[in-house]
Amino acid sequence: MLEISMQNITSLESNAGLLARYMALRQPENVVQAMYVWIDGQQGLRAKTRTLNFVPKSSSELPIWNFDGSSTYQSEGSNADVYLFPVQVYSDPFRGGNNKLVLCETIRYDKTPTPSNTRHTCNAVMDMAADQEPWFGIEQEYSLLDGTDRNKPLGWPTGGFPGPQGPYYCGVGANRVFGRDIVEAHYRACMYSGVKIAGENAEVMPSQWEFQVGPCKGISIGDDLWMARFLLHRVAEDFHVAVTFDPKLIPGDWNGAGAHTNFSTKAMREKGGLAEIEAACKRLEKNHAKHIVKYDPSGGADNARRLTGKHETSSMDKFTYGVANRGASVRIPRQVADDGYGYLEDRRPASNMDPYVVCEQLVRTICLNE
Ligand code: ADP
Ligand code: MN
Ligand code: MN
Ligand code: MN
Repeated sequence: MLEISMQNITSLESNAGLLARYMALRQPENVVQAMYVWIDGQQGLRAKTRTLNFVPKSSSELPIWNFDGSSTYQSEGSNADVYLFPVQVYSDPFRGGNNKLVLCETIRYDKTPTPSNTRHTCNAVMDMAADQEPWFGIEQEYSLLDGTDRNKPLGWPTGGFPGPQGPYYCGVGANRVFGRDIVEAHYRACMYSGVKIAGENAEVMPSQWEFQVGPCKGISIGDDLWMARFLLHRVAEDFHVAVTFDPKLIPGDWNGAGAHTNFSTKAMREKGGLAEIEAACKRLEKNHAKHIVKYDPSGGADNARRLTGKHETSSMDKFTYGVANRGASVRIPRQVADDGYGYLEDRRPASNMDPYVVCEQLVRTICLNE
């Protein structure tokens, strides 16, 4: 079930002290390390660095680059080069100073997007609906895997299970939460970089956590969520821990992981917006089957393990919505019903969903009435 299985990790010794000596060396002024980050052909994250002789202020100042797509499930060896088109610039929390992280789109030799580049159409759809001012907030759930035995969640006993779920959600104490140092480091790394992180909490399954990104306007939700995922993998790497977005890591009576997607338009956020929210739910209902195919990268198979109707999930086959209902496909938060305006929460997307795909679907259905 686990997506990462790696035995015999040889050395977990930290060289942090030694590395700090080199990282403290004075960097020449106006000479900057730019780490280009992109999404590979299997929704993995990749990165490589180049030196720039200026401090970039926006993505348009940055050079187009390329990489070997035959090594990232993105092209054939005989025509391997894939372009990297910079689209967003973030401050680099690992190298500090003027160093940057550069989120890129992957573009083929003929200047068309690669099949894995889902940002391209999402961006076009966001432009089409810009007058309705769509906002998004995503709750990203994930699990941490043990540093030496990557088949086991961090802090779980070898060959056994922790006590049943109950004490862990938003828990405190060394016997209730595992990996808080990673969560803290990631939160600050997001803030420093410019990712619009909204919060964090420990989840129902021990060693499962959540962070939220938002509210973000338009395409920036996908950019910030992918960069937040990159930062999480990279922070956890420093702690010799791995991150998994598997939507049902441990079968049985253990919570799966989702990526609840909160959505609003300008009309929903204004007085009387509840009627707009209810109209949106009706549109979502009509498109349920289509959306389920798009809400995880396997076309629904991953979510089939998670959306069982148990563990605060809805049934996969039937669309439901309701106020404060955490067993529904879409929840209207209690506060929103009380206020009469606000946003809705689509609880169906799996933790390994692609935010560009999910947010494009929401806008197509709700704003463009497709
Ligand atoms: P839950 O109660 O479901 O656990 P969270 O507090 O974890 O909710 O997450 C709520 C998310 O909703 C956050 O990402 C926040 O940015 C987002 N959000 C808040 N207001 C809006 C809005 N008007 N439109 C879209 N997203 C919003
Ligand atoms: Mn939440
Ligand atoms: Mn949650
Ligand atoms: Mn939620």
